[in-house]
Amino acid sequence: MYRLITRDNNAKRGEFHTVHGTIQTPVFMNVGTAAAIKGAVSTLDLQAIDTQVELSNTYHLHVRPGDLVVKKMGGLHKFMVWDKPILTDSGGFQVFSLAGLRKIKEEGVYFQSHIDGKRIFMGPEESMQIQSNLASTIAMAFDECPPHPATRKYMQDSVDRTTRWLLRCKTEMERLNSLEDTINPKQMLFGINQGGTFADIRIEHARRISELDLDGYALGGLAVGESHEEMYEIIEQTVPYLPLEKPTYLMGVGTPANILEAVERGVDFFDCVYPSRNGRHGHAYTNHGKMNLLNAKYELDERPIEEGCQCPVCKTYSRAYIRHLLKAKEMLGLRFLVTHNLYFYNKMMEEIRMAIEEHRFQEYKRDKLARMAEGE
Ligand SMILES: [Zn+2]
Repeated sequence: MYRLITRDNNAKRGEFHTVHGTIQTPVFMNVGTAAAIKGAVSTLDLQAIDTQVELSNTYHLHVRPGDLVVKKMGGLHKFMVWDKPILTDSGGFQVFSLAGLRKIKEEGVYFQSHIDGKRIFMGPEESMQIQSNLASTIAMAFDECPPHPATRKYMQDSVDRTTRWLLRCKTEMERLNSLEDTINPKQMLFGINQGGTFADIRIEHARRISELDLDGYALGGLAVGESHEEMYEIIEQTVPYLPLEKPTYLMGVGTPANILEAVERGVDFFDCVYPSRNGRHGHAYTNHGKMNLLNAKYELDERPIEEGCQCPVCKTYSRAYIRHLLKAKEMLGLRFLVTHNLYFYNKMMEEIRMAIEEHRFQEYKRDKLARMAEGE
């Protein structure tokens, strides 16, 4: 259940109550694709840097180790040892972006596993069953992630099918939550708004899915090749048609600047691979822009990645040491950068929440963006 605490213009400050604890929003969800943060960051590390939500990918866990294995191990929370909220995606995005040779039908999607080429079928019911086996806190509805660009006709047909699939997801989840051996009978469902960059299709779709009284609503199919300006415009036009008293989730976005712009337009939930992916490439996020720790100028630099940062890495290690680890291709160097970057993202969300509460979000956003643009 979502409670809107306050608003600063369109920015929302809320809290979302779940069976695995309360999420303070706006929130960043830390992406652990196959039940692990890439970069050797464990759930113990996530606890140490005070993160709120972990996100795992249904498709990846379905192909390996298999959702039935996870169910037999007591569900994802027990399997990966994490007692706070977990969101699982529906598998749809990976089916449409990773899997080979797929065929979309009314019943669902036929495709080949990217691991072993095995033929798999996934439709709304299968996605809900897998997510119920994983026993995540929040399950995402199975949708089609349409290609970009797509014709208006393709988009309208796709969105209509996504709506029919959403109704099937809702029915199936209600059935699964009522079964005796379901690990999390309080699993929640978020619907996904689609429509590409066609604002009128997005708005009409948002109206239709809002009537279903779901636990939350996501904007999908953005950051897939359109410009940032187009994305902000679509968010601005669509969010007002989603329920104010439910959380809004912008899927797969983005840079710190993208997040600040979307918060300003009323978004509550975010997830993105940037902090871990950039960390694995030797890049650190700081309040003075991105740093490349491989740079020769850090060879004898005794300072932490970012002075004043309270993450366990910055409190302990120097730039010189981390640079050495990266040069020597020691996994520890990547782990340090990913840890710092996740801390940076989660800390920024904390600052955002405080700024909204104190009704100074505009000022905070302006200062943060100006500082990040400065460079080191
Ligand atoms: Zn740090």
